[in-house]
Amino acid sequence: MRYLPEGNFMKILLIGPQGSGKSTQGKMLAQFLDVPYISTGDIFREIASQDTEEGRQIKRILESGHLVSDEKTRELVKRKLQQPECQRGFILDGYPRTSEQVDLFHAIDLKFDKIFYLNVPEDKVIERLAKRGRPDDTPETIKTRLDVYKLKAAVLMEALTGFGNLVEIDGSGSIDQIQQQIRNMINGQK
Ligand code: AMP
Repeated sequence: MRYLPEGNFMKILLIGPQGSGKSTQGKMLAQFLDVPYISTGDIFREIASQDTEEGRQIKRILESGHLVSDEKTRELVKRKLQQPECQRGFILDGYPRTSEQVDLFHAIDLKFDKIFYLNVPEDKVIERLAKRGRPDDTPETIKTRLDVYKLKAAVLMEALTGFGNLVEIDGSGSIDQIQQQIRNMINGQK
């Protein structure tokens, strides 16, 4: 049976480096809680697959491993979160990546029930990404994305303080172990 907290719908944010298992965990959790899973990376890959000027522009950015502009990303996420299906909760993955993107949460007065930070050592992240084989997972883009992440991570974490209960999860265990740990935390267990 799916889990729904009494009188409350779950708004959950997943943060952590690429390869930390956010999307795997996020999709499993979304199914469990019966709420939409929103990944900005998925949204941008969908746009990049379109044969339009915007599609080609986003494709170039994705292939470089750099970030899409804060302005464009914020607007896109704002629109998404305002859709009816997100009103009873959601799992957000891949956003925010910068402290400027965090400002959107102030602007739309959004608080999370839980923020999960999936922490995985860098060598393990690189190993996982190399196996994943996504088109934008070349050694160069993997390195650039990790550099971009590291550069912003500390400021990002600080900016997220106060938007929800931030919990650090050791993301180096098995998929099922980590999922169970997340669900226990949501259920208020330790
Ligand atoms: P991901 O699937 O989360 O690894 O994202 C893939 C790519 O999409 C990233 O390398 C960025 O180019 C772009 N992207 C995803 N989320 C964001 C974001 N919040 N801000 C800017 N660019 C993003």
